[in-house]
Amino acid sequence: MHVTGDRRVCVGAGQCVLAAPDVFDQDEDHGLVLVLQEEPGDDQREAVDHAEAACPSGAVHVD
Ligand code: SF4
Repeated sequence: MHVTGDRRVCVGAGQCVLAAPDVFDQDEDHGLVLVLQEEPGDDQREAVDHAEAACPSGAVHVD
């Protein structure tokens, strides 16, 4: 699993952080997404899928 967060389209809503706090964070200046783990373990799969679904701007991608 490979996770990306596109900071060009992120609107700082924070839904990804709520869904998967071990994988996502937001920067302090603009609240834009930071990916803490680009290759999270399978134990994070459900949380990351929730983050992808919850993101209002389509910034979270999971391959
Ligand atoms: S949920 Fe989407 S828009 Fe909100 S902070 Fe995360 S990546 Fe950005």
